[in-house]
Parts: sequence; C-alpha cells; structure tokens
Amino acid sequence: MEPCLFCESAAGRLPQAVVYEDEHTMAFLDWRQSAPGHVLIIPRRHLQAMSVLRSEDGARLLRCAALISEAVARALAPDGMQLGGILSNLRDAGQTSEDDHFHLHLLPRRHGSTTARIYPFGDHVSTESVLEEIARQIRDHI
Ligand SMILES: [Zn+2]
Repeated sequence: MEPCLFCESAAGRLPQAVVYEDEHTMAFLDWRQSAPGHVLIIPRRHLQAMSVLRSEDGARLLRCAALISEAVARALAPDGMQLGGILSNLRDAGQTSEDDHFHLHLLPRRHGSTTARIYPFGDHVSTESVLEEIARQIRDHI
C-alpha cells in the first residue's frame, strides 16, 4: 500500500507550503489551488474516517480553521470563506490516497466564484417525502 501523502507531509518528508503547524494539526496550501489561498487542514495523526474523530480532534481542527480563516482573510481579502470539502473515507468512493487521511478544505471565495459549489445541480429541491425518507434512514443509525 502506498504511503499516506498527508502522514508524509506531517512527518516533514513531503514538502508543503505550510502556513501553520502545532503538535496536533497542520495547515498547508493545496497543490491544486482551487482559489488563491486554498488551504488544507489536517490532524497530524492519521484519522481515516470522520466517525473516529474524538471531540478534542474536532475542536483542534476547527480552532485551526478559524485561525487560518482569519489570516487568509487579512492576507488576501477574499469576499467570503468556505470551510468545506470535509473529506472522510473517500478512497472507496474513487478518490486518491490523500483522501484516506481526514482533512478540511478552507477556500477563500470571490464574488461570482463557482469553485466548490455545494449545490452543483442548481436549485433543484427534493420533495418532502424524499427528504423525510433520507432523514429517517440517518436517524435510525444515531
Ligand atoms: Zn495519513
């Protein structure tokens, strides 16, 4: 199995444009800048799935995201900021090896930007019955 790119990055064996790091988290520029200032935020230890995050992991990652968001806003003056693309367990969904390591994408947004749309299919609204069925399926597993 190929090494995890983000574990290699966290260990300093893969060069990254690091903007912040501490004992638990690391933030660096995505090699594929969806927009200038596109930052990836990772836990230093390999966490594959969102479901294994402990509350302190989540708190550290969100605290880091808030810190970096403020810095990016001051440095690049975007029109808005998106914390998204919270990726977890995506290798089985056809993604690449770095998607085995839980991470957050912080994306500065400009007016009119179409990157990382949450609603790529436009304004299509699901019916109430479809929404309720999906909600029931999820509730049954909480
Ligand atoms: Zn990893």
